[in-house]
Amino acid sequence: MKFDVVIAGGGFTGAYCARALGKMLGHAGEKRVAIISERNVLVFQPMLAEVAGSSLSVLDVVNPLRQFCRHVNVLQGSVQRIDWERRALVLDGGRFTRNHLVGFEHLVLALGSVTDLSRVPGMADYSWPMKTVADAIRLRAAVINRLEEANLIEDLDTRRRLLTFVIVGGGYTGVETAGQLLDLLLESKMLYANLREVPLRVVLVHSRAHLLEEIGERLGDYAQCVLEKRGMEVRLGTRVTEVTAGKVILDDGSAIEAHTVVSTVGNAPNPITMDLCQKLGIPTDKGRIRVEATMRVVGQTNLWAAGDGASVPWDDRGQLKNSPPTAQFALRQGRQLAENLVRAMRGEPLRPFKYRYMGQLATVGQRAAVAELFGFRFSGFIAWWMWRSIYLAKLPGTLRKLRVMMDWTFELFFRRDISVVQPPPEDILRSIHLEKGELLISEGDRCRGIFFVRRGALTRERSGEEPTTLGPDTIVDQEWSDERGRWTITLTAAESTDITVFRGRAFELLKTRLRLGLRDEPESKQIPTLISG
Ligand SMILES: Cc1cc2nc3c(=O)[nH]c(=O)nc-3n(C[C@H](O)[C@H](O)[C@H](O)COP(=O)(O)OP(=O)(O)OC[C@H]3O[C@@H](n4cnc5c(N)ncnc54)[C@H](O)[C@@H]3O)c2cc1C
Repeated sequence: MKFDVVIAGGGFTGAYCARALGKMLGHAGEKRVAIISERNVLVFQPMLAEVAGSSLSVLDVVNPLRQFCRHVNVLQGSVQRIDWERRALVLDGGRFTRNHLVGFEHLVLALGSVTDLSRVPGMADYSWPMKTVADAIRLRAAVINRLEEANLIEDLDTRRRLLTFVIVGGGYTGVETAGQLLDLLLESKMLYANLREVPLRVVLVHSRAHLLEEIGERLGDYAQCVLEKRGMEVRLGTRVTEVTAGKVILDDGSAIEAHTVVSTVGNAPNPITMDLCQKLGIPTDKGRIRVEATMRVVGQTNLWAAGDGASVPWDDRGQLKNSPPTAQFALRQGRQLAENLVRAMRGEPLRPFKYRYMGQLATVGQRAAVAELFGFRFSGFIAWWMWRSIYLAKLPGTLRKLRVMMDWTFELFFRRDISVVQPPPEDILRSIHLEKGELLISEGDRCRGIFFVRRGALTRERSGEEPTTLGPDTIVDQEWSDERGRWTITLTAAESTDITVFRGRAFELLKTRLRLGLRDEPESKQIPTLISG
């Protein structure tokens, strides 16, 4: 497969660029254009918090790329790497189409950024990120499942932990998600007979001095005031240092006992973009690829980039700045990049990126929002109404607009939907992080997995035996379970410990293989055998 233009990434930048190129080139059959996307939909990310909060259904916030970008070839797959010498991308299209080559004349990098939660111990294992549609669906299900569990349990400590929710990060995503979760929890709690009188705790942790610093202190303080009035705890100037299955540890030494943590921090450069920059010696700016104001990559002729993954110079009323990583910039950059690409193909002069910034809006729940538009600041119901009108107008596709309008109207009169329909978990491998003294398993618990100690140590206790310590590389398997499939030992963390758990299908597979005699092989061979199996 070879195309005149390949756009890598189907977010706002890529989709709007492809749509414009399709109109300018694809329709007339003049040039062949392809867009590569991991999913076959354009996700309207600014509304993801509403999906997590059960205000909107998931189909309201996605748009099929094949309908959105007409006259271009949509290729669903994940870019594995860029082979610049061969002018080709190596694509993983799924289970049966790995290492597929897609050639190009011009390449547009629109891969955005990725989430990296590895810098805070336990954060990747125990927190819910909020970036993709899958994240929003999982978070909504997790929150509702916590209510279900809390309704069942009588132990007050466990119930308190189940009803405590921590949101990390006080930017747009954090504030909007926190507001939506609070609405969902307060409204849904009344449906649970055992929870009506029980208090909920929602904590928003932010490392800076004000929420929403992007739109100014005053509006950030207003958002804080609205959230606090509704019962949310806002912890400013505080960082999370560690997360475990039941605790969020903060840099002031205190800890919040909670089983649900949402992480809206940890933006990191896209590794595919960074890899190409390194190979071609392209300069980067805080993890964003450097481009000229025309969005052509510095020092290259056939390589272009825009959106969150690129540092695009922007003339803000005479002041030269880097474009902020927001949707309104990404989609306009996508369109203008397409126009410049066509100009370049026709040998015409290119134009610098231009955009008159209009402002920003963020909702804080309970029909309140904060907004800065054309230099004016609004808050409360008017800002919320403006938020909904503007986003409805921006939402691509008439069908989506109608659906969202209907969902929002229903929401005024009816409760949010708390149905959870999930396929059974298919966890193959899971990571666990334990703090010293935390319990992993108790004697008598059902054996539902096998543990591999990656770092740290566990204390093993069994009735009538001296406690022993299990260090790194130990495998805890059925050897310590009885014929009814119950553990015969208790394991607690002797220090800060990281463990890999083989669960679900992987566990079943390993059990079968162990029965076939795999246990006779050296331990180091067992895990790779399982993974390849
Ligand atoms: C929850 C949330 C709320 C937000 N709210 C707002 C808001 O209210 N207002 C606002 O202006 N902005 C908001 N933003 C920011 C805005 O969504 C981003 O700035 C915008 O999406 C950036 O567009 P992009 O195309 O550069 O990147 P993305 O939209 O991230 O698109 C990148 C695309 O590349 C794909 N990709 C990545 N790696 C690969 C690979 N290896 N192979 C194939 N495809 C790949 C991804 O799947 C994705 O489709 C929000 C973001 C989030 C996450």
